[in-house]
Amino acid sequence: MRRISVFGATGSIGQSTLDLIARAPDAYDVAVLTGGQNIAQLASDARRFGADLAVTADEALYKDLKEALAGSGIEAAAGEAALEEAGARPADWIMSAIVGAAGLAPGLRALEQGSTLALANKESLVTAGALLMQTACRHGATVLPVDSEHSAVFQALVGEEMDTVERIIITASGGAFRDWPLEDLARATVEQASAHPNWNMGQRITIDSASMFNKALEVIETKEYFGIDPERIEVLIHPESLVHALVGFRDGALMAHLGVSDMRHAIGYALNWPERAELPVARLDLAQIGQLHFRAPDEARYPALRLAREVMARDGLAGAVFNAAKEAALDAFIAGRIGFTAMAGVVEAVLERAEAELGLIDATMTLDNIRAADHMARIRAEEVMSGLAA
Ligand code: NDP
Repeated sequence: MRRISVFGATGSIGQSTLDLIARAPDAYDVAVLTGGQNIAQLASDARRFGADLAVTADEALYKDLKEALAGSGIEAAAGEAALEEAGARPADWIMSAIVGAAGLAPGLRALEQGSTLALANKESLVTAGALLMQTACRHGATVLPVDSEHSAVFQALVGEEMDTVERIIITASGGAFRDWPLEDLARATVEQASAHPNWNMGQRITIDSASMFNKALEVIETKEYFGIDPERIEVLIHPESLVHALVGFRDGALMAHLGVSDMRHAIGYALNWPERAELPVARLDLAQIGQLHFRAPDEARYPALRLAREVMARDGLAGAVFNAAKEAALDAFIAGRIGFTAMAGVVEAVLERAEAELGLIDATMTLDNIRAADHMARIRAEEVMSGLAA
């Protein structure tokens, strides 16, 4: 029996992971489930899967969680430190599906115990790619990609050598506004940005898909995970979201990965790796689909992609600054404090300010320095946004 933990169990990826685990109850023993605000879901899943420990990120909800678990014998814990400790609980396979930079510390702890970390939390790689991969290497741990594009690349690379890879192409649906006139984007509402044309995901990643910040994070994730030069990473708009990624080899061959828009494929691949097992996902009928479309992204529509290139050229803690500024700008957009198109301007301004702040981006990549860069970026983002409001 494999011991499994799911971080971010109450979210979209977490629930899809539990759906797969529920289909083979005798194969898995659930150690830890974590969540945030959704205590009812967390407690009911902890009971259903007989978890040892349930953790909410919100300390103020500890009492609610404790009460919801009363009589079950399941341990309850709350807060950032408890989440980090949850990462240190022994488990063979851990799903990292907390949203945002908050997923980094528990993921690092999981790697320190030599576990297999199925990484949906792309923000960890953007914020601290080198630290994460070095920690995995030092402790004999494994990091498996769960983002659909990176899982696709990973699968296309089975049996191949990285030095034969010429380029990696990740596709993007173009998000909710791909066909909107450019001049209308500034007036886009949170509700409109939260409706993805193809994927059913958490709200934050859905809005990031509309702004293409999600793809910007994924380009950086590609560089960090596969160790490929940024110039050899391409983005292709593919409205159908059926081809997830392509790998181009030095003999000119392109290997594409296709599948329906169902994250249970990528999650299931990571869960069963290195084997393949039957998965409850629909099969593609290409004859019925008939046509697939591709086009180059328009950088005027998607400034986030240009910013990702700048971050990769800068390296160091620029990824931590970029991600934190993006999270702060996204919070402000969701709260109705700034417009949709203002988000990229805020992130760009924070990156420029960070560059001027004595060696902050050049500091060694430790968890403390990353936290400091993240904290500073959020403060600078607030300053930039209060300037916008004035
Ligand atoms: P959701 O918003 O659906 O879920 C996020 C999870 O994280 C929930 O369990 C939530 O708890 C918890 N959470 C929220 N804030 C915090 C915090 N500060 N500390 C600890 N836990 C927190 O997100 P998704 O499932 O969509 O995405 C999860 C991750 O996977 C993200 O990094 C995303 O980019 C990535 N990803 C998602 C895909 C998808 O299809 N959804 C595809 C590829 C990658 P609660 O809900 O209880 O508040």
